[in-house]
Amino acid sequence: MAAVEIVITREETDDDWMRRAACKGLTHLFFPAPAERPQARERREATARQVCAGCVVNDTCQVYARDHHEYGFWGGESEDERHAAGYRLIAPIGVRARNAG
Ligand code: SF4
Repeated sequence: MAAVEIVITREETDDDWMRRAACKGLTHLFFPAPAERPQARERREATARQVCAGCVVNDTCQVYARDHHEYGFWGGESEDERHAAGYRLIAPIGVRARNAG
């Protein structure tokens, strides 16, 4: 019987950078609660922005969110800021509502 060598390697995946995220455990700062009021959104996003400013994967995170049309606050950017930068949300309900009128 021939010896069989099994080699298991772990490939680097596109989302490995998430393991170095400074926002672990802080989901409440990066995604809105239901029926969040504008003033609460401003305060929440200001705090999230501070966390992102000290995050070592900020640039990668911002590109990821833009490329994947993410909702919430990613890479120092809100949904509105991504939208304004030309990275449209797939269903920009909140952005449309906030920018209407
Ligand atoms: S840049 Fe901000 S949202 Fe992105 S991983 Fe870092 S802390 Fe989280």
